[in-house]
Amino acid sequence: MAAGIRNELLMNTSLINELAEVAKDSALMHGFLVRLNESLNSSEVVTYAPITLFPTPVPKSLFLQAMEVQTHYNTLVDKISQDPDFLQEALASTITVDDFTARLFKIHQQVLKEGLLQSIVVGLNRSDYMWEQEENGHTSLKQIEINTFSVGAGGIASRIPDVHRNILKVAGQLKESKRIIDNNPAVGLAKAVAKAWELYGSKQAVVMFLVAENEFNIVDQRIIEKELWKGNIATIRKRFEDISESGKLDENKRLFVDHQEVAVVYFRNGYMPHNYRSEKAWEARLMMECSLAVKCPDISTHLAGTKKVQQVLAKPGVLERFFPNQPQIVERVRATFAGLYTLDMGAEGDKAVAMALATPDRFVLKPQREGGGNNIYGQDIREVLGKVKYSPERMAYILMDKIQPVPTQNYLLRRGKPLKLSHCLSELGFFGTYVRRGKDMVMNDCVGYLMRTKSSEHSDSGSTVGVSFFDNPLLF
Ligand code: ADP
Ligand code: MG
Repeated sequence: MAAGIRNELLMNTSLINELAEVAKDSALMHGFLVRLNESLNSSEVVTYAPITLFPTPVPKSLFLQAMEVQTHYNTLVDKISQDPDFLQEALASTITVDDFTARLFKIHQQVLKEGLLQSIVVGLNRSDYMWEQEENGHTSLKQIEINTFSVGAGGIASRIPDVHRNILKVAGQLKESKRIIDNNPAVGLAKAVAKAWELYGSKQAVVMFLVAENEFNIVDQRIIEKELWKGNIATIRKRFEDISESGKLDENKRLFVDHQEVAVVYFRNGYMPHNYRSEKAWEARLMMECSLAVKCPDISTHLAGTKKVQQVLAKPGVLERFFPNQPQIVERVRATFAGLYTLDMGAEGDKAVAMALATPDRFVLKPQREGGGNNIYGQDIREVLGKVKYSPERMAYILMDKIQPVPTQNYLLRRGKPLKLSHCLSELGFFGTYVRRGKDMVMNDCVGYLMRTKSSEHSDSGSTVGVSFFDNPLLF
């Protein structure tokens, strides 16, 4: 959309109000829905998922760059997961101060001790990016993080293009509406899970979605379930508590839940400490990890997605360990890295602390947490880091350069929130899938993307914390 037309549109208040109603109804028509915060456990009453009124321009070259590097990220994550020495070394400092990561690491070690039973691995990840203008005027893609566990929104993402097309048509922007491309990550995500199920080789076994008690984003998961059912693969939904109550391993370590054999455990829960409500939940996780079921993903792949690993990967020479004699791949992956700094004890960590305290607005302080709302920005960095700067507690965090995207203008639609023109920042994530059996990569693909936009008032994001809005890229 030409900037001029867009500005005119953005200022036309009566049209904007009309388009907002079109957006909501279109969301209903296309199943672009979420549960209400007040009834997270029920689909009796639902609402439209948060969305931008208009798609956001994205340079095509950056879109293609992220898409093309995705299969290398898949390979990277998978190789890290098979390198216990690297994981041990990378996470050594973190696990002395971060109890949650330590707990996951302990499971990883227990699995290694028992000996890996299952040689089939399925990975579904999403690498998230922002882009910023450099001093030389060049726009560059920067990775925020790669998520390797319980990656969301690949289902519901498939519904966004139609909603925006609808809005643009009513706005008289037919040409723009045609430029919105189809995007259906759910098909690719399900294809990888289905492949793992097939390789497991038991027709009566099911794919088990390990889910939370309350799922505001139920449609997202159901869309992937539906794709699996299309291939006549049965899915069940269970919580950690269900596994504690009715999960069992037989003499061959096959996993049974409620007397149903589980071919694939697909984790959609278990990435935050409070997801494990008791010791029993941890025992259930261990049982699943030690079983013959294919884990999506397994514990070592979960650890490969930690922010500490991300920081270690950015150190000189580390990517070369995973891509020996492949300098071009190393270069392509590294080109997407933002500056990342260790806070381990020692001179390097001290330097990073001093830098962060001197110019906190240039950085993001990140603990080993997922799901949005955990990172620390601006003056808060001074406060948090100020307290732990001389103590090992600082090793629970990593420091990252703050990516500074150029804001765009848009309207953000969310139930119960007033419609107002906002300065927005966007992020784009690409979904990667792979299946490996033993040493053979059976599948390695990029299967779609997720665009999210937030008001620039917010530093952090994450749909679960109510800050980000679904969006579509408009490539230029
Ligand atoms: P989480 O695992 O909680 O999703 P992320 O690292 O993805 O943690 O950060 C959450 C959000 O914070 C991102 O989606 C992005 O909006 C913002 N953010 C994270 N890192 C940066 C960064 N380096 N620069 C700018 N914004 C960032
Ligand atoms: Mg994230």
